[in-house]
Amino acid sequence: MPIATTNPVTGELLKTFDAMAEDRIDQAIGRSVDGFRALRQTTFAQRAAWMRAAADLLDADSDDVAALMTLEMGKTLAAARAEVAKCATACRYYAEHAERFLADEPAEPSEVGAVRAYARYQPLGPVLAVMPWNFPLWQAMRFAAPALMAGNTGLLKHASNVPQTALYLGELFARAGFPAGAFQTLLVGSDAVERILTDPRVRAATLTGSEGAGRSIAAIAGRELKKTVLELGGSDPYVVLPTADLDRAAEVAATARCQNNGQSCIAAKRFIVHTDVYDQFVDAFVAHMSALTVGDPMMDTTDVGPLATEQGRRDAEEQVADAVGKGATVRCGGRAPEGAGWWYPPTVVTGITPDMRMYAEEVFAPVAGGYRAASLDEAIELANATSYGLGANAWTGDPDEQQRLVTELEAGAVFINGMVTSYPQLPFGGIKNSGYGRELSAAGIREFCNLKAVWVG
Ligand code: NDP
Repeated sequence: MPIATTNPVTGELLKTFDAMAEDRIDQAIGRSVDGFRALRQTTFAQRAAWMRAAADLLDADSDDVAALMTLEMGKTLAAARAEVAKCATACRYYAEHAERFLADEPAEPSEVGAVRAYARYQPLGPVLAVMPWNFPLWQAMRFAAPALMAGNTGLLKHASNVPQTALYLGELFARAGFPAGAFQTLLVGSDAVERILTDPRVRAATLTGSEGAGRSIAAIAGRELKKTVLELGGSDPYVVLPTADLDRAAEVAATARCQNNGQSCIAAKRFIVHTDVYDQFVDAFVAHMSALTVGDPMMDTTDVGPLATEQGRRDAEEQVADAVGKGATVRCGGRAPEGAGWWYPPTVVTGITPDMRMYAEEVFAPVAGGYRAASLDEAIELANATSYGLGANAWTGDPDEQQRLVTELEAGAVFINGMVTSYPQLPFGGIKNSGYGRELSAAGIREFCNLKAVWVG
């Protein structure tokens, strides 16, 4: 994949970049080590001041960087602005809480025959971050803010189709005052990842992306005995039961599926509806999906822009064609328009069966699959009938059903009567083929730390 900015609205190639040469990668890793030596000597208060300065820069740059993201990957400008604001919030959150999250954890000295005993969190060093294009700023920030507050340094290998956003990120933390080398962007293709990760100076890696990329990085890291955090794909269920507020559930369903033009790992993708309310819910859901405005992502009136890549649209077209060929029904959308750009309309396909690709695969486009369930048991079984386990949405007013869903849904997050969203205050990550490890909250900042046992006699 070339390192380039291509406008998904028109398919026009706007700007290409050369991949960094081997010697420059080497120098960047060296700077990362130097940056780590400098950063680990600083106090939480110092790092928090720089992190707050980064948040202020994000606020000040919001219009420009939001427009850049929209240009490079097609999300609506409103969504891009919200993403910038969320990044600033995460910076301030870790500036405020990092010291508490990483405070020494005392043990009872008498129980271990010591005068003093405790566990101390210490940074690991340079961490490679391989990131996707779908939330180009947020995905990287979710790693960067806690990592830098812990005293680690970051080497960002961003997706090849968002190079200008990647370059912005590569300068942000130095502009905010962090030492040189604390956070750098490496403009490289995925073919350079193995070389970087096998470098002994790089201590760990985090990847947000596809299952295939996750397996590849985990294999290399396994060989090298390096810690990894993997945030991979998802095919989140959206379970609707008879006691749900159906109007609200149908309205939120359209947002949950079409957020970020349908390209979110935690988008609701499989709509599993109890048979007693199936027709009522699906009719309302189709009406909300059909009412969404598809168009120029720079316009305030647009709800859904184009898909980010030509390949992404091809994948969605093939998945829908496969389902229709095997007997599924298209209730709205389902056909890409003629002309330039990588458009795909909000689509609802019902009657999904296990022989269809949509049953097992993630659909990274505004395409919802509809499933009818005869009971709560069947709804839970269908929801768990996937290799993924990222998020799960469920709608019911019944407290007993809520408890069963919280306990039995196989996912890294369960949201009852609302849509799955990430918050700095809550852990984020998956189980099964959605990956392992957690980002955000206290858990996220501890992932790339050495928890050192200290015993003083
Ligand atoms: P990819 O996995 O193709 O790309 C993600 C990043 O990994 C890019 O930087 C890419 O580089 C790099 N990469 C790709 N293949 C390899 C490899 N074999 N070895 C090392 N690095 C590699 O994913 P997409 O860009 O297509 O993003 C969509 C996928 O990511 C979906 O499955 C989605 O669910 C998942 N995702 C998961 C999220 C989560 O938090 N769990 C969030 C967002 C997306 P390059 O661009 O140069 O190919």
